[in-house]
Amino acid sequence: MHMEMHKCKNKLFFYLLLLSPALFSMPVHSEESYKPIISILIDDLGYKFKEDTRALALPGPVAYAILPHGPHTEKISQLAFKKGKDILLHLPMQAEVMDKNEFLGPGALTLNMTRKDFLKTLNINIHAVPNLIGINNHMGSLLTQHPGHMQWLMDSMKKNGQFYVDSLTSDNSVAARLAKENNVPYLTRDIFLDHKQGSKNVRAQFKELIKTAKRNGSALGIGHPHASTIQVLSELLQDVEQYGVKLVSIKSLIHKPTTGKKYAQNRNQGTSAASAGM
Ligand SMILES: [Zn+2]
Repeated sequence: MHMEMHKCKNKLFFYLLLLSPALFSMPVHSEESYKPIISILIDDLGYKFKEDTRALALPGPVAYAILPHGPHTEKISQLAFKKGKDILLHLPMQAEVMDKNEFLGPGALTLNMTRKDFLKTLNINIHAVPNLIGINNHMGSLLTQHPGHMQWLMDSMKKNGQFYVDSLTSDNSVAARLAKENNVPYLTRDIFLDHKQGSKNVRAQFKELIKTAKRNGSALGIGHPHASTIQVLSELLQDVEQYGVKLVSIKSLIHKPTTGKKYAQNRNQGTSAASAGM
């Protein structure tokens, strides 16, 4: 009897083995969990109240990067927080092309700063944007190429438990590499949604974002609170899953273990953005 049962068990095991390739090839999860993911970050908030509040009304877990000393910085941060949105400090950093630097605004970090000045300015900026969880660069095509200054930034971010999003305004940015070396969670921009404004361009860039997500598993798009950008996004994000992707918060993108690989793969996509100086 005992022997018989043992045999029977063996038989069962044998059949299970035969079945197992079929079992493994069957989708274990629903198709839903395999959707490529996208995340959207809207930069340059804090200066135009009407445009900014329209941007804050975008559906889903869109993140917002707020400039530190705009007339509406505090109010917009509070509104974003109330809506449960992720908030980043949009940190002005020196650009390569000198005349672009007039758009830097107050609180800019520049190459001629001492470590002390740099950290003091950074700290004031951080305190100007309530409830921030991360930082990304506004302009910065010059400063992000300098490992010394980027190390000062990483020191501060490590201490404050923030993550870094490299807007990748220069192909030679070392920010992501330094973030990685310092164990600061980081992400790099894949697509600028509106380096050329207008609905047609934004739609084309959004398509690129989806293509990138399908190729790499995830993609980050950065836009600005221009009327055409917000109008197109509010339409496309209503039912984004029809394009075969899922909109997730910037945090969920950052914690993807593929981030480091993504950085290396996408370094060449920043060229147009670099010339646009965004
Ligand atoms: Zn910006």
